[in-house]
Amino acid sequence: MPFRDRYTGLINRYRDHLPVNDDTPLISLGEGNTPLIRLKNIPRLLGKDVDIYVKYEGLNPTGSFKDRGMTMAVTKAVEEGSNAIICASTGNTSAAAAAYAARAGITAFVIIPEGKIAMGKLAQAMMYGAVIMQIRGNFDQGMQLVKEVAAQAPVTIVNSVNPYRLQGQKTAAFEIIEELGRAPDYHCLPVGNAGNITAHWIGYCEYSSAKSDLITEACAFCEGKCRYAGGPVIGGRPKMVGYQANGAAPFLRGAPVQDPETVATAIRIGNPQSWDKAWKVKEESGGWFDELTDQEILAAQKMLAEKEGIFCEPASAASIGGAMRDIKAGKIAEGSTVVCTLTGNGLKDPDTAIDQCKDSRMVTIDADLGAVRDAIVSNM
Ligand SMILES: *Cc1c(COP(=O)(O)O)cnc(C)c1O
Repeated sequence: MPFRDRYTGLINRYRDHLPVNDDTPLISLGEGNTPLIRLKNIPRLLGKDVDIYVKYEGLNPTGSFKDRGMTMAVTKAVEEGSNAIICASTGNTSAAAAAYAARAGITAFVIIPEGKIAMGKLAQAMMYGAVIMQIRGNFDQGMQLVKEVAAQAPVTIVNSVNPYRLQGQKTAAFEIIEELGRAPDYHCLPVGNAGNITAHWIGYCEYSSAKSDLITEACAFCEGKCRYAGGPVIGGRPKMVGYQANGAAPFLRGAPVQDPETVATAIRIGNPQSWDKAWKVKEESGGWFDELTDQEILAAQKMLAEKEGIFCEPASAASIGGAMRDIKAGKIAEGSTVVCTLTGNGLKDPDTAIDQCKDSRMVTIDADLGAVRDAIVSNM
């Protein structure tokens, strides 16, 4: 039996479509190549004839899609001779930055909002050895500080304002097209800074050689390396649908939100860095933005875990929660193929998970056979 080529990360996989050359020192942890799982039970419960797939980005090396962007951003930072990277983060960017910096042997500085980051993400940044600055403020304030300090100190910003981040993240769209044999009809994502929805659109546009103001920008950036550009049209493009938490929904308010608040800390962002790009995505794709309450987000997270065996973090559940609502309402038509990105792993935020499972089926019993038997019988 022939050996399969060893998978060595998304830059190697898609190097023809990314701004690297043969001398670029790749900093990779084997990110990308995540499963696209077809839901079985939720479509039946919805009573709608819709094909729903989830792209489980929580299975990346540090447990979120941020690894796709970070492998590119850190690779380029190292190639350009940088010894330190910096980011503001709601948690996952700091975990990814810390891990890839460790891998590269450089320093990661991360600014996080004190008390508003999920336990798993904090544990990661600490373990990977980042220098952690907890600020008495929110992500948006941290982002402002990062931009100001990077203008003065020799540190490379690895937030999604770093264009290499979106280049790495666009590969998720490539993987989806290659797996489905075409683009889905709808692609639903949670939206915080709106970098990921932008990156996916760039990926779909490149693959289908379709016109886009964002692709023109991206191709100029790639120096025409993208072999899809000008080639045959492959895959088509989905309508892009972005969901925000209603306490942090600047796209629905039409203005930045001063004090964003939501249980979905990964999208607790009031002033998205990719605002204009994301609106371009919505226009070009014919998609839309909508918002969910924290209750809806948590209900979707629980439902996905309970009915499909897939555990994502709260922010990620905004995609499937929003999609379910729009499918029920008929806004997403029957007969459609829908992909929902599950941006991060449920294990990132055990506190929120345990909190919402207070009524879970857990009993405390004596360590004897009779008690176990009784517990089984009464819970069948
Ligand atoms: C970063 C992140 C988001 C938001 O992505 P943006 O590119 O900022 O819109 C959503 N969910 C999770 C789990 C994240 O880590």
